[in-house]
Amino acid sequence: MSVRVRFAPSPTGYLHVGGARTALINWLYARKHGGVFILRVEDTDEARSTPEMTQAILDGLSWLGITWDEGPFFQSERQRIYRDNAAKLLASGHAYRCFCSKEALEGRRNASGKPGEWKYDKACRALSAEDSARRAGAGEPFVVRCAVPLGKLGWNDVVKGPIEFDASEVEDFVLLRSDGTPTYHLSVVSDDVDMAVTHVIRGEDHVSNTPKQVALYRGLGLEPPVFGHLPLILGMDKRKLSKRHGTVSVMTYKDEGILPLALFNFLAQLGANLGEEPVLTMTQIMSRFDFSALKPSASVFDRERLTFINAKVIGETPPCELSILVRPFLDEVLGAPAPAIPEAAVRVMGTRAKDMRELALMLVPFLSEDFVYDEKGVDKARKDPAALAALQALLPKLEAMEDGEWTPAKLEDILRAHAAETGVKAGALIHPCRLFLTGRTESPGIFDVLCAMGKGGTLARLRRGLASVAGPAA
Ligand code: GLU
Repeated sequence: MSVRVRFAPSPTGYLHVGGARTALINWLYARKHGGVFILRVEDTDEARSTPEMTQAILDGLSWLGITWDEGPFFQSERQRIYRDNAAKLLASGHAYRCFCSKEALEGRRNASGKPGEWKYDKACRALSAEDSARRAGAGEPFVVRCAVPLGKLGWNDVVKGPIEFDASEVEDFVLLRSDGTPTYHLSVVSDDVDMAVTHVIRGEDHVSNTPKQVALYRGLGLEPPVFGHLPLILGMDKRKLSKRHGTVSVMTYKDEGILPLALFNFLAQLGANLGEEPVLTMTQIMSRFDFSALKPSASVFDRERLTFINAKVIGETPPCELSILVRPFLDEVLGAPAPAIPEAAVRVMGTRAKDMRELALMLVPFLSEDFVYDEKGVDKARKDPAALAALQALLPKLEAMEDGEWTPAKLEDILRAHAAETGVKAGALIHPCRLFLTGRTESPGIFDVLCAMGKGGTLARLRRGLASVAGPAA
């Protein structure tokens, strides 16, 4: 039987990291087994679902590289299927009409002494089919409830192992509301049946829904699919991840300069044990992923780890690709469309940037001579006039270099020889050099930076730095 899995978001919010992880794990499973990944938008809550949210979810999935083979299907367009199933269940006695009014239910709930624990008392389950049909025919309002069978309702969860509920714990839940609209359980099961879903992999918050859905499969005379419930994602404080913990929407990570492969790696590893390496290729993720790799207990969302993975992914992304990816960030930083970015600059600075915003900022000095210097770096440089004087004296030596000599190794030789000659430590020369070329006190290897900046660019920036930092102090 070929694998058919689905991701079934409700478009009542953005695609958050929990949803993205569910989607990603289903997608991986489908891809690994040559199966089908279905996208189904559960937009039955009309008041809370919006087309904008649906679009945001599709955008989030696409950005992560999660492509769907079938859909998106919209539950709002499939109501017939749900009503037909309710009719089938009614006809076979696996569902029944309930004429109890809200007020009557409320009264019995309160009279029970334990209103919080009260479950529907199945009063209408005893009605004869004739009575039920007659009352419905006379226009009395009713809901349709599932006649939950006696006994055990269990399944072998591929993530959590065997789970079993006693049917006495499960209420005769509503399938169709009094206005004829289907509830979540009926629509989900009807769709999973109609779409021939083989594996339902979703968040742990659905564990308590599963016995009800198992009851519905039985009522329909069908074998339930394989179920797997993914554990919660927690914040660093071990509480359920929420907006309180900062960003939870996937597209916000994009805006923050996280690359999709980084978030993909992070989320895949959050849900599954895939090995020690922080960054895996898609092929590695695919080959190592299986249900047996899924973590049965909650995982902690460690933002620093995501940053760490992102920096690694940036470092491993080919510069030609990074140049394209960084452009929108650079346009934003510059406030205007950025000029062509030298690939050598992207190659060097990409080894040190933790996100694309930072990379954009790091590239500014390659595109313009007008950038700010780190204040602490300026203070430190001013405290060492001997080093600044030695740097000034280095300029003619740099100027005399042939273009072909402008390599990291040759630059290092010249700077170190000059340091020895002038009695200044190489480090003391490197510090202002770095500040004047990058505006920063930390950067990738300075000789690589000098090389990427080119001879003309380097000399112009060193002169500017010396004039603005050494000048006023002198
Ligand atoms: N629409 C449900 C949700 O967003 C998912 C239902 C399911 O996966 O069965 O939580």
